[in-house]
This record gives sequence, structure tokens and C-alpha cells, in this order.
Amino acid sequence: MSFDQWLTQRIEKTKQAGLYRRLRTMSTAPQPQMVVNGTKQIVFSSNNYLGLANDPILIEKALETLNEFGLGSSGSRLTTGNTEWHEKLEQRIANFKKMEAALLFSSGYLANMGVLSSLPVKGDVLLSDQLNHASIIDGCRLSKAETVIYQHADMNSLAQKLRETQKYNRRFIVTDGVFSMDGTIAPLDKIMKLAKRYDAYVIVDDAHATGVLGEGGRGTSELFGVSPDVVIGTLSKAVGIEGGFVSGSSVLIDFLLNHARTFIFQTAVPPASCAAAYAAIDMIEKGKDKRENLLRKIKIIKNTLEAMGFKVYGQDTPIIPVIIGDAETSVQFSKKLQENGIYAPAIRPPTVPNGESRIRLTVTAAHNDTQIEHLLTSFKGIGRELKMIT
Ligand code: PMP
Repeated sequence: MSFDQWLTQRIEKTKQAGLYRRLRTMSTAPQPQMVVNGTKQIVFSSNNYLGLANDPILIEKALETLNEFGLGSSGSRLTTGNTEWHEKLEQRIANFKKMEAALLFSSGYLANMGVLSSLPVKGDVLLSDQLNHASIIDGCRLSKAETVIYQHADMNSLAQKLRETQKYNRRFIVTDGVFSMDGTIAPLDKIMKLAKRYDAYVIVDDAHATGVLGEGGRGTSELFGVSPDVVIGTLSKAVGIEGGFVSGSSVLIDFLLNHARTFIFQTAVPPASCAAAYAAIDMIEKGKDKRENLLRKIKIIKNTLEAMGFKVYGQDTPIIPVIIGDAETSVQFSKKLQENGIYAPAIRPPTVPNGESRIRLTVTAAHNDTQIEHLLTSFKGIGRELKMIT
């Protein structure tokens, strides 16, 4: 069998399992209305929660820095890739997150992998929420420590696992701040209490909460008034740009700079992205009205869909999963939405449990009331047509 024949066979299996993926082409900048595969769609599936990815002030800032510093950083941070913009942004992130220091990575994915593969050592254990993001799962796999999974956001389950893991040298609880498929918020206040009681460290991935939750958009730590040991984040969602970060104590950052392989061996993010992210964080800090506006939209969508009879998961976050049930109906629902000019993907097993296939909606501060109205009317029509609601 040739190399390509072998791969074709494997792809065939992926197709048979209903897991074959295809790319869609966006022909416009990130905004609520986009051209997706050649047709105009209102996009309800982007992570551009505050609409900053297309902000003219941030674009201007990036252009200015592009002209001064060029396109790529051309080296890792520890060789020739470190500019004053990287350092300024790290200080800005630390100050924003109310932590001593921060370290930039090329993505949130790599930040999670870097922390989890370097911090816990052999003889330690990672206690990981069942619904944690793939980058946490991969980080746990890379770690020399063992991993124990606890039930999603279930404090009894976490307490039990903490009791059962007393023989390990150190214990690290690792959780998403906001869970990407369920839109739930980790009960960080309770997690911190358990960590204190059982002498464990806490690592939070605040990818979806940064810029969105808390008075100043600082994320779940601010929402619950707690200070975990390690707070990871991304610049690719509400911040609207690209890159990841870790914030925490100065010694943590010094440690990661020396030990996190995804930091050491990766080319630094472009300076222009750093300058734009710096300005975006300024906007986020001052953007309480944008967050309130976003929260209002989240509530309208959730409440209206629930009143129509749909089962909606999650809490008050921009991730709004509408449970459809079986995988086929979810795909059908998503296709019908697309025919109505709405782009929102169906999420099926194994990403979510059997019988819990869903339309995963995300809403941003940039969506206008007419677009939201159209979404809700479409849900009502399709829900009735598919006999899901009356
Ligand atoms: N953590 C979570 C919870 C995420 O949803 C994502 C992105 N989907 C990441 C980390 C990775 O972030 P990035 O896109 O910056 O690599």
C-alpha cells in the first residue's frame, strides 16, 4: 500500500465516523456579517467577543509598528525576537491581570502546553476538569506528572480526587475559566477553597473569560475575587489579535522563561501584534459599557431561546450552546440556519457526549439588534419545522 493509499484509508474511517472536517473560506474581515464560502452570513460562532479584531484604532497601531519593526520577529524571545513591545505588553498584561508578571507565548495553546509540561514533575499529579480544552489535555499528556480527571465543575468529585491523591508530592488543579463547549464558568472560589484545604496549586486557563468576565474584564479571578497560582490566557479571542500568555508571580515567569519549551523554542509573536494587543487591553479595561452591552445580548438570546422551548446550556458567557440532541438533526439545523444566512456550527460527538449534539452559538458586542432578532426568528422557524418546539 502506498503512503497516500494508507492515508486515504484513514480519512475514509474519519468520514465513516462522521468526523470529516472541511475548511470554510472567509472573504471578509472578522465582523458579524461575513462572506463565508462565497455567501453572506451573519456569523454567530466567532471568538471576537468585543469586536476588537477589526477595530480601526488597533489596526492603525499595528500598521505604525509594522512600519517601524517589520513583519516577523525573526527569532525566539531568547535570541533576537525580543523587542520593547513584547516587554511592554507583558507588563501591561501583568498589570491588567493584577499579577506580578506575565510571559507571552505564540498562542494560548502553546501557553497551556508550556506550563503543564514544565511545572509539574514526576511524582506530582494534575487534577483536570473533564471538559478542559484540548490544549490542557495535550499539556497533561506531555507532563511527567500523572493526570486524574474530575467530573465537570463538580466540587464533590474534585474533593474526592484530592483526598485520593494525598500520596503525590504536589497537586495541581487545572481548569478552564469558561468552558468552550458548555459555556459554563468554573466555580473558582470553591476550587480555591479546596486547593487551600488540600494544599494544592491552581492553574486557570482564562481564554474565554479574559476581556469578558469581571468588572474590568480581567476574567474569572476578578469575577470571584481570587488569585490562582497560574492564570493563562489568549490574545486571540476578546483581545482580537493573536498570541497567548501566562501571568503569575515573578518567580513563576522566570521559571517558565527558563523551562517552558514552547516559550524557549518558538519564534516570538510579531511586534505589531504586541503593540495592537497593548492598545486592545487599554480598551478592554475601559470597556465596561461594551461588556454590559455584550451581557445584555447574551441574556436576550438565552432567555428568548429558553422561552421558545429550547434547552440551553451554560451561564452568562458569550458561548451559548443550544442542545439539539442527535448529531444528524444538529447538522440539519445548522444547514437550515445557513440557508437563512446564519453561520453557527453543529457540535457532535466525540466533542460532546452522545445525545447532546448542539448548535454552539457565540455572540459578540458587535452584533446588532436586527442580527440578533434574525437569529431568534430563524431558531423559532427551524425549531418548529423540525418539531423541536411548538
Ligand atoms: N484554551 C481554551 C479554553 C480555548 O478555547 C482555546 C482556543 N480555542 C485555547 C486555549 C487556545 O488558544 P489559542 O487560540 O490562542 O491558541
